[in-house]
Amino acid sequence: MVGTNDLRSYYQKFLPSEQIYSWLSYGDPVYFTKREFAFTRDEFFSRYQSFKNGSELKERLTRNERDIPERFEIGCVYSVPPSQQHSVSPGVFVPISKEFVLDIDISDYNDIRMCGCKESNYCRVCWKLMLCGVEVSDYILTSIFGFKNRLWVFSGGRGIHCWVGDESVRSLTNEGRSAVAEFMHLYQSSKDNNSGRQGKVDTNNLSHPSFSTDSKIFQICQKYFVDVFIDGMDILRDSDKYEKLLSFITDSTLKKQVHNLIDGLDEDDDASETWSEIVKVLNVRKNNTFVQAIVLSFVYPRLDLNVSKGLNHLLKSPFCIHPRTGYVCVPLDPKKDVPKGDSQGFYPEDQCPKVGELVNNNQEATKMMESRVEIFKKFVLDLKKQKSQEKLEESDSMLQF
Ligand SMILES: [Zn+2]
Repeated sequence: MVGTNDLRSYYQKFLPSEQIYSWLSYGDPVYFTKREFAFTRDEFFSRYQSFKNGSELKERLTRNERDIPERFEIGCVYSVPPSQQHSVSPGVFVPISKEFVLDIDISDYNDIRMCGCKESNYCRVCWKLMLCGVEVSDYILTSIFGFKNRLWVFSGGRGIHCWVGDESVRSLTNEGRSAVAEFMHLYQSSKDNNSGRQGKVDTNNLSHPSFSTDSKIFQICQKYFVDVFIDGMDILRDSDKYEKLLSFITDSTLKKQVHNLIDGLDEDDDASETWSEIVKVLNVRKNNTFVQAIVLSFVYPRLDLNVSKGLNHLLKSPFCIHPRTGYVCVPLDPKKDVPKGDSQGFYPEDQCPKVGELVNNNQEATKMMESRVEIFKKFVLDLKKQKSQEKLEESDSMLQF
């Protein structure tokens, strides 16, 4: 648990409330006033709060010693400021718009985390599945859907969020959100698993060219599969572990051939070469999806669909504090914070400040915080540039008439 005094000092000294205001107003101060904020303290939850600007938000977070929120969440934009909802006629107060959001949690990968981690625990090996989630989803959002404005955030606990704020995206209906989320979701779903998260991809989804074995998405996934499972968890050297891989091969002849290759793996052999041999064997048979099903089922992002589909779903704000870990929910750079060359990418223990360290003036934590605020500032600045570019294009097209 994080102490009230620490929280208060953090909100006062470190929370970039002006940048949060800049982001959520999207160039229109009135838009910000209609945004719902929700606060949690001692399991008491207060919804439908709204503010005029960033300083009012900060004031709410720090004004009353007995009511300093442990965390705060961001909801959608309504037709009227949520704090005034009771002063309008019934039916007037309705949800209007919100970012499209993604939520990926490490606890949804329990069935394949053969490193021994469970639930909210993670290690340097399985954490990379979160970075794979960032890299793959960011590619889909930008290169397939053409979205520009994405804010990736470490949730402070077990996962990662993304806020997509392009104007066309914010005005999506629940149906539009569902369509984007369903396209991104490759897993089999079942009735008792409402959120749709399950450990095997639905092979019917694999015929789309975006997921074929020569697609960019598959290439990214294969890179993580080799890094995390073949090298990191060494699954080819333990029968309990490779059983999972074999379970995807439903052809008994191919399964036997693959088993033989695994049996031939010696102590000094490079397991990733054996994996390449396995791929060759499986690809001999035309039109099978075994390799795709294995690689994607192990590493493809497992989205919490319910969070993405609902317009009025609340999501923890960037820069609030995770109550269990004390970590700040810091923004990530989707290009620089994923593994590349010698860099292992973002790992909370190395790159995320904790509230206690910040309020005690720990230099290293302060530096980490500054660099994370820089990522956020750049994101807000890009948003402004994008907005003025759009305005310019708009006036250009007006002039042509
Ligand atoms: Zn692990």
